[in-house]
Amino acid sequence: MIINGKEIAEKIRQEIKAKADKLKKKPGLAVILVGDDPASQVYVRGKEKTCNELGFYSEIHRLDQNISEDELLNLVKGLNNNDKIHGILVQLPLPKHIDKNKVISLIKPIKDVDGLHPLNIGNLFTGHKAIIPCTPKGIVKLIESTGEEIQGRNAVVVGRSNLVGKPVSVLLLNRNATVTICHSRTQDLKKHTQQADILVAAVGKPEFITADMIKQGAIVIDVGINRIDGKLIGDVDFENVKDKCSFITPVPGGVGPMTIAMLMENTIECYEMIEK
Ligand code: NDP
Repeated sequence: MIINGKEIAEKIRQEIKAKADKLKKKPGLAVILVGDDPASQVYVRGKEKTCNELGFYSEIHRLDQNISEDELLNLVKGLNNNDKIHGILVQLPLPKHIDKNKVISLIKPIKDVDGLHPLNIGNLFTGHKAIIPCTPKGIVKLIESTGEEIQGRNAVVVGRSNLVGKPVSVLLLNRNATVTICHSRTQDLKKHTQQADILVAAVGKPEFITADMIKQGAIVIDVGINRIDGKLIGDVDFENVKDKCSFITPVPGGVGPMTIAMLMENTIECYEMIEK
């Protein structure tokens, strides 16, 4: 069965809109985009559009590629103290001359809608209340939408980035899956993926996961977004894998729409913490 991320995300968006309509003031999201990376521009436009559709206040700060680190840090400081803003998102990647960790660490943890501040990551890893990174949060909701048990299942995550691989592994571990994290130095990757009841592919290589790597009846979540000749291709060879697994997410229309929906959900969570 194909997990329809677009449809699930749409339902969540409607719930968020209903919630936002009832709030005293508009939830506010600030997005900072540095430079003109085409993929980042697409993502930021999507975030701006969604804010408008859901009745959020939004500020998009489009900054020149050559902006100094200090200027960027000052912008973040201003947004930290801006009462209209409940969530701050710095679109990654940042140019090389800017220390990404310094910028993210400066965001007030309570406004860290992307859940990448060390305090939120620490809380996630220790099982305390945290703002959960959007893509991993969306992935878990997609797995849960299948109605299949996570507890006790073998989950294999291919990719160990701070943005996707590591946090999704912890979320699955916190739900009592037995988690294996694979990466570029993993030996005999297939041996691991073939054991996966739940397989999350976050590699960034088109159709990297092939049918021979899949356990019959697995749940397969394809996080990858690869642009080939203007087309979006996932990390999973969808056509050949789909007949072997029990559930699979498509690209596009799987994890992507959930990421934006979770960003909006996180903004509301930040709003509630701040306005309380
Ligand atoms: P990164 O490039 O940060 O991480 C990729 C990971 O894949 C690394 O951990 C790397 O290992 C691992 N890897 C690379 N080659 C291999 C290999 N041959 N075998 C096993 N593992 C390998 O990417 P992200 O985590 O940021 O993103 C992954 C994909 O997900 C990308 O396509 C990205 O565009 C997409 N994405 C989609 C989102 C969405 O909303 N749908 C949101 C965020 C990302 P190592 O650590 O050893 O280098």
